[in-house]
Amino acid sequence: MERTLVILKPCTIQRGLIGEIIARFEKKGLILEGMKMTWLTDEILSEHYAHLKERSFFQRVKDAMAVCPVIVCCWKGVDAVNVVRTLAGATNGRNAAPGTIRGDYSMSVQENIVHASDSQETAAIELKRFFSEDELFNYETKNLLSLYAND
Ligand code: UDP
Repeated sequence: MERTLVILKPCTIQRGLIGEIIARFEKKGLILEGMKMTWLTDEILSEHYAHLKERSFFQRVKDAMAVCPVIVCCWKGVDAVNVVRTLAGATNGRNAAPGTIRGDYSMSVQENIVHASDSQETAAIELKRFFSEDELFNYETKNLLSLYAND
């Protein structure tokens, strides 16, 4: 089992797509272990996007992530990191394949709906960055039949 971090970016909140995007991950069969709304500071964004600090668009990317609160989620599942990256699609929404989240909802490189951890190592670091352990919930999931088996 793996855990991975997803951030619903400000464009997603502002376009009213929160439910639709969360539904994509839920329907796929990933398990939601934690979720919260939070306003990202320049300090945390500098850490999160440190791999882009030499790029010309570094400040623009950080600013775009701070125009309104974001929603951070922890999803769990077998191969969750790769599964979520595949669901998210290519970074540039204009190149992302139809059927992927970015391919279906984005016409932009920057405003590309979600952030998704790119490796297990990154996921562990990013989850620590945004969640304390007591904000992540490990619980049993039941299939539909077992939910009403005792009726
Ligand atoms: N980004 C951008 N212009 C670029 C490359 C990246 O605005 O040319 C933004 C985009 O929002 C992307 C984020 O920076 O999601 C992080 O870039 P990364 O290369 O880590 O892509 P990701 O892992 O998000 O697909």
